[in-house]
Amino acid sequence: MPTTIEEPRILGIKPFEPDQVFFEPDALTYPLGKELMKRFKAKGTPIYMTTSHNQVRGIPGETELEKYRNAKRTLVVGVRKTLKFDTSKPSAEYAIPLSTGCMGHCHYCYLQTTMGNKPYIRVYVNIDEILEQAGRYIEEREPEITRFEAACTSDPVGIEHITGNLKRCIEYMGQQEHGRLRFVTKYAHVEPLLDAKHNGRTRFRFSINADYVIKNFEPATSPFLDRIEAAGKVAQAGFPLGFIIAPLYRFDGWQEGYRDLLERLEAMLPNEAKEDLTFELIQHRFTKTAKKVIEARYPKSKLEMNEEERQYKWGRYGRGKYVYKKEQARELQETIEEMLVYHFPYAKIEYFT
Ligand code: SF4
Repeated sequence: MPTTIEEPRILGIKPFEPDQVFFEPDALTYPLGKELMKRFKAKGTPIYMTTSHNQVRGIPGETELEKYRNAKRTLVVGVRKTLKFDTSKPSAEYAIPLSTGCMGHCHYCYLQTTMGNKPYIRVYVNIDEILEQAGRYIEEREPEITRFEAACTSDPVGIEHITGNLKRCIEYMGQQEHGRLRFVTKYAHVEPLLDAKHNGRTRFRFSINADYVIKNFEPATSPFLDRIEAAGKVAQAGFPLGFIIAPLYRFDGWQEGYRDLLERLEAMLPNEAKEDLTFELIQHRFTKTAKKVIEARYPKSKLEMNEEERQYKWGRYGRGKYVYKKEQARELQETIEEMLVYHFPYAKIEYFT
């Protein structure tokens, strides 16, 4: 009698709980700050005060590497003072700052460099002020639609069970005729968001990749199968759904790896999830600074960052990055787009960059 071999399931990761928490004194004047203080006291998490969320001292660790790892398990509760939002092309007009930092250990993540020596996770309690500011940006552009990206500086789903800020933001946008929200996640902990009154104005995206990339470069994030299962729940909750395939990475056998990814995605997604679907494609890139930081933090990483094999692309403020050479990038784009058209004929490919 033939036996069926089930795909082995890597046990999912638990929702993040920090090893220690720092509070800015001002944070305790906001309801969310008070609530979080209560939460962590009840859990017995070590709590410290810090004068500013930009300068947290006293994260334990003998070496730089240990300090870095401990920082990724440290939560800082603060007040967001800068209410000027950054731009967030090509996926949205503005980045909405709900949190900064992430507990994931993706080797290639650009937060490695943008957060420099502050890899701890900051959450902001003045959510009402942040949303009011978003409202002003929406008004300025009316009758145009204004899109906000909530995952530029963190993975907001991964910490949602702690703050509830993403749900507040989703429900706020649900009431804005001219406002839209989008974010992306590598975490499957979507339960707290499933009953949010989104009104179809939030696009919930999952970051996915070929097995090789997830296994080698994305420690401390949810496994692929958990992400897809979560995507199904999100689609059932009526959210417009999307996927970001990033970084598109040319490993040995990448064509097969990505074909396998999209075949599995098609087979596993419920039909309703395929009706209004978007894909965003981002090829792997790195800067010289990122390369140094990654080599120091993940010394055994297999991530290829050979400048000679790449092409330099100038960016804003003279800061450029290394992307694949033209021909290789074109091949990557054409191959993946072809596969997408085959597996998801009704989906929209928003961009390749
Ligand atoms: Fe960076 Fe996203 Fe990985 Fe977090 S989950 S480390 S934000 S790439």
